[in-house]
Amino acid sequence: MKTVHDVIIVGGGPSGLATAYLCSKHKLSYLVLESGKAVFQGIANSYPQGKLVYPSKPKDAPEPFMVDELRPPDKPVTVENYLQYIQHFVQHENLNILTDAAFEEIRDERDGLTVITSRGNFRGKKVVLAFGSNIPRELSVYGDAKMVAKNVEDASKYIGIKTLVIGGGNSAADVIIGILKAKREVHDNQPVYWAHVAETFDVNKETAQRLGEEILLGGNIRLLPGATPRIGEIDSEGIERLVIRINIFEQADGIDLYHALSFPMQNVIACIGSQGPVPIFDRLGIQTIACAAGVCKIAKEGERLVLLSSEFESTRRGVYVIGGAISPSYMKISEGAITEEKHPNLIYTAVNDAYHVVEAIREKIAK
Ligand SMILES: Cc1cc2nc3c(=O)[nH]c(=O)nc-3n(C[C@H](O)[C@H](O)[C@H](O)COP(=O)(O)OP(=O)(O)OC[C@H]3O[C@@H](n4cnc5c(N)ncnc54)[C@H](O)[C@@H]3O)c2cc1C
Repeated sequence: MKTVHDVIIVGGGPSGLATAYLCSKHKLSYLVLESGKAVFQGIANSYPQGKLVYPSKPKDAPEPFMVDELRPPDKPVTVENYLQYIQHFVQHENLNILTDAAFEEIRDERDGLTVITSRGNFRGKKVVLAFGSNIPRELSVYGDAKMVAKNVEDASKYIGIKTLVIGGGNSAADVIIGILKAKREVHDNQPVYWAHVAETFDVNKETAQRLGEEILLGGNIRLLPGATPRIGEIDSEGIERLVIRINIFEQADGIDLYHALSFPMQNVIACIGSQGPVPIFDRLGIQTIACAAGVCKIAKEGERLVLLSSEFESTRRGVYVIGGAISPSYMKISEGAITEEKHPNLIYTAVNDAYHVVEAIREKIAK
């Protein structure tokens, strides 16, 4: 029979790692499932290079940092130094982490929960969702487009191949700049196609300047404004491909004519932004509540907030949600009342949530 862990933790950021550390300290068995190449992938992807990490704590917060080991130093260090420290911490504590494991679904079993990921299924008595607030948007096409990358860790991977970057903003432009630079350094003239559903691209001045420089230095870029990803399919050689429509001619007889390009999916990067976790809560059957006029102070009217107990347990039994995933506010059920609870997106909040959840789980498991 497969191992049943006490706790399965989804996400290896500050909240997930703090949960893992506290579980290990209190002799609860656990496993962290992280979709990235390493822990703290969310921070590695979202902080600009050289950004200082502050041990910020809201003024009105009564508690100290409950896991001092993850607290950024008082004299702020760069994100690179903080990440290096975290890697050492994980090794030193020998934390049980599986990387490259993207969470997909939770199934109820008679004796607990099964968490389904891209690297197999794992069983736990409790599940802590700690996947942060930046959930990359999926391409919506007919068929499957799971192989499409969402960011680029190593631009040299795209040397010698025609690459397609989808998205109209700064993050798409940054990816293109990185790939053009890698290609230029080895005199690779294969183009980078830049597709966006809208007719115009929207980048800031500084990014536009860097992109312009790469183009003037010989970068081979082909713009595809008004292009729509349509189909994910497998060709006759078994290669997964993405078909993107680049223009459409409406005919008088009602039969449309269109042009499309088909790229192997492994040559495609989609930088189409991120979304909050509400679609995931919906998929998991976790209840959210829409803010009515005058009820919420932080969230806007109509925005949906996840409903949690004072111990961060969701309406799905045994499934807890903590950290950035429930920021900047959530709906707290306490003593029969439901109120909006402020929850700033900080390392402090993420780590302290972990402390409270592990305390609650310890008590429940001991019973
Ligand atoms: C630019 C920037 C600067 C900031 N500076 C500071 C600062 O100086 N001080 C401070 O206190 N706070 C700062 N913050 C906020 C802080 O980074 C967050 O509050 C904190 O990272 C939240 O931790 P978390 O573990 O909840 O989420 P995250 O750090 O987002 O971690 C979530 C993890 O889950 C993984 N994941 C996501 N989806 C899945 C999935 N489907 N399956 C498996 N794993 C998944 C991600 O790869 C990620 O590693 C900053 C935020 C930003 C964007």
